[in-house]
Amino acid sequence: MKLDKPVYVTQPSLPKLDEFIPYLQEIWDSKILTNNGKFHQTLEKEIAKFLGVKYVSLFANATLALLTSMQALRIRGEVITTPYTFVATSNSLIWNNLKPVFVDIDPITGNIDADKIEEAITSNTTAILPVHVYGNPCDVLKIQELADTYNLKVVYDAAHAFGVKYKDTSLLNYGDLSILSFHATKVFNTMEGGAIISHDEKTKKRIDYLKNFGFKDEVTVIAAGINSKMNEMQAAFGLLQLKDIDKNILLRKEIAAIYTKGLSKVKGINVLPIVKGVRDFNFSYFPIFIEENYGKSRDEVYSLLKSNNIFGRRYFYPLVTHFPMYKRIDSSNPSNLPFAEAIANKVICLPIYPNLEIEIVHKIISILK
Ligand SMILES: *Cc1c(COP(=O)(O)O)cnc(C)c1O
Repeated sequence: MKLDKPVYVTQPSLPKLDEFIPYLQEIWDSKILTNNGKFHQTLEKEIAKFLGVKYVSLFANATLALLTSMQALRIRGEVITTPYTFVATSNSLIWNNLKPVFVDIDPITGNIDADKIEEAITSNTTAILPVHVYGNPCDVLKIQELADTYNLKVVYDAAHAFGVKYKDTSLLNYGDLSILSFHATKVFNTMEGGAIISHDEKTKKRIDYLKNFGFKDEVTVIAAGINSKMNEMQAAFGLLQLKDIDKNILLRKEIAAIYTKGLSKVKGINVLPIVKGVRDFNFSYFPIFIEENYGKSRDEVYSLLKSNNIFGRRYFYPLVTHFPMYKRIDSSNPSNLPFAEAIANKVICLPIYPNLEIEIVHKIISILK
């Protein structure tokens, strides 16, 4: 019964090696390895076209993009954010000497509860940093309304939201900035990588200066920037990845449909609904929620899968607010975050990736049944 080979929560998609060689040859010939070279420029344009957004600034990874986004918008003081995320989201605030203020989540989507944001706003609040968890949109309209009322910036951690559309535009067009991750484990990868999506040329320029030490030209440094540039090999790799992205998302969609159907009648297991108004959902994750009436705890299910060589992941557990550097913040108190506390103890993300064999999907379903 146990699988002979381990199956992990994800497996990176890779382009064909022979298709990559000519790109490498070009890099070898040109000797241009980084610093906004040809592949970098082309990938920024191609991703913008694919996503339907105005400006893309490529980064070495999403964490550096998050860090830079706060500098780009000159965020100060307190930032309202979610505890139900990967730790890079709130780490980017600490790293910028900003105070994270945690707000509870919507129990269905796992996204920040927009109705609880207002009560967390103080005179020190300057921004909101929500996450589109598993690619489902936050309540972007309500969040923008609050931002307009209180004069706050909105930066979305959109690491899960590549390609997702909402109400007939890219989800990445909401808010002041959106951050993407192109890490190996994400839907679209450049091995490591990330991007900031911006909507006007001035902001795009500021971001591009900041990711290159703050250099505006050879002799002018406009801010204490960082080095978070993507290199030419990764950018070339990304161009090839873009060719397969539609096909890969479709394969994910098929797997998600099999899981959804197979688990629909299993008492005590819920799957993630897709928010109304979404198009081109990317099926980046397949989270399931183990409820009390399932008969086994989440960790028992997690171990059972593991003993069958199936390595799901508990995204996101533990909550960010349980880590020592966040624990002492008032808003981290579990009594402030009941839904986040609950979901973190229910979730398992099941394996999903384009080349996952359908037999294995059925096997996972039968174990859960
Ligand atoms: C993956 C991820 C990140 C970090 O991305 P990197 O590119 O690995 O730095 C940030 N936030 C969320 C929600 C993520 O899932």
